[in-house]
Amino acid sequence: MDACIFCLIRDGKIPAKRVYEDDQAVAFEDTNPQAPTHVLVIPRKHVSSLNELEPADEALVGHLFSVGRKIAQERGIHGTGWRAVINTNRDAGQTVFHIHLHVLGGRSMRWPPG
Ligand code: 5GP
Ligand code: ZN
Repeated sequence: MDACIFCLIRDGKIPAKRVYEDDQAVAFEDTNPQAPTHVLVIPRKHVSSLNELEPADEALVGHLFSVGRKIAQERGIHGTGWRAVINTNRDAGQTVFHIHLHVLGGRSMRWPPG
């Protein structure tokens, strides 16, 4: 998926402020942060959205949440609270079609989300 912006970030072909990576996932700062901490965690594997998830990907998605928790701990927001969000398709506001977990925190948030 050469046209996918997050595949290009994964491959280092366009720059991003990486904060974590391992054999399954890459995490980097969102360029338009919505909270003091706003990190995106992506699987190295290109999966367009949760709608395309296959049973074999279950552990991979679980891993994204583990990376999110690690980042929240490093940022010192695991105690105060943080939000993990995966937007899927139009009504949820998905704009990049490579699964990404938003890790948001560092401020008080409202519910329900807008
Ligand atoms: P979505 O709306 O699909 O859930 O989230 C896409 C997110 O990717 C947005 O928060 C947006 O700011 C972020 N984003 C879009 N393009 C780039 C980019 O080139 N680099 C980085 N670091 N973030 C991006
Ligand atoms: Zn991709």
